[in-house]
Formats: sequence, C-alpha cells, structure tokens
Amino acid sequence: MNIDVERLKEEGEIDLAEIVSLPRIAREVVDIESVDDVSVRLHATYHHPYVIVRGELDTVVHYVCSRCLAEFARPLSAPFHERYTTDEHKVEDEVRFVGDEVVDVTPELEQAIFLAIDNRPLCKETCQGLCPVCGRDRNVEPCSCDLRPIDPRLEALKGLLSDHGSE
Ligand SMILES: [Zn+2]
Ligand SMILES: [Zn+2]
Repeated sequence: MNIDVERLKEEGEIDLAEIVSLPRIAREVVDIESVDDVSVRLHATYHHPYVIVRGELDTVVHYVCSRCLAEFARPLSAPFHERYTTDEHKVEDEVRFVGDEVVDVTPELEQAIFLAIDNRPLCKETCQGLCPVCGRDRNVEPCSCDLRPIDPRLEALKGLLSDHGSE
C-alpha cells in the first residue's frame, strides 16, 4: 500500500482506504493459519519534513489453538500510527526516510498486525486441550487417563519393589 508523498505535499492531507493482503504474517507465526485480506483506512498529513500517518486496520485472523490445535477465526483491529521523513537528516529509529516519492507502508502495516495478534491463542478460555497421554481432544470427549503426577514416595517404593522382584 503506497502513499504518494509528492501529492501529499501539494494537498497537505490525504485519506486512503484499501484492502491489502499481508501473507507474511501467516508465514512467520506458527499459531496463525491465515489472515484474511486487511481493510486499511489511513489519514496522512504532511508537516515538513514529516509524513504522519494515522489509521486503523481490520481483518480476521485464523488461529490454531495452542492447547487443542483446532482452527478458529477471530476478528482483529489494530491502530496505525507512523511517522516518515523526507529529510534524511531527520531519520530516527522509528522514523523512516522516504524521500519525495512514494512510501510503501506495507512493513509498518505488518508490524501493526504483529503487535496486535494473540501470542498464545486459545479457541476458548476454558479449552481443555489434548490429553498428553492418549492424545484425545478433551473438549470433544473426556478420557479417563490418570494425569496426576506420581507421588515421589510411591515412585521410590515402586523402585524398591522392582529391585526386589529382579533378585
Ligand atoms: Zn482449543
Ligand atoms: Zn487421555
């Protein structure tokens, strides 16, 4: 998604609305299966020597639940707020140099989504996850596996018994 800096300098401000595809997010985040096309609305203003862009992104993220591995979709909204500069002497960590041409804001759009996604997505707060013993999805069907940790004293006793048995 591009902002025409020359036109922005002439007009002072520009409103932009576009639907963009950001496939890098699903490629880089293991818990994300795909991201729907992103609706981006931006308002760009020029204050010499800065291009200031504010706006909002909306999409639907298709996550993989980190407990049960089921896929689920959740809407995502992320704010966008960036500064660029047309003066190479004003470049800072968060202020990219864009010259007088066209600025491609795609890297910052991706960054805004990265900051807003769920880092440990759960299909629901109460997701029971997969049984570590039998692998069954415990949301669908509870299993009777014994998941209690073994008491260390019992473990020692078991060791004694098996030592004895091997004699
Ligand atoms: Zn789940
Ligand atoms: Zn089980």
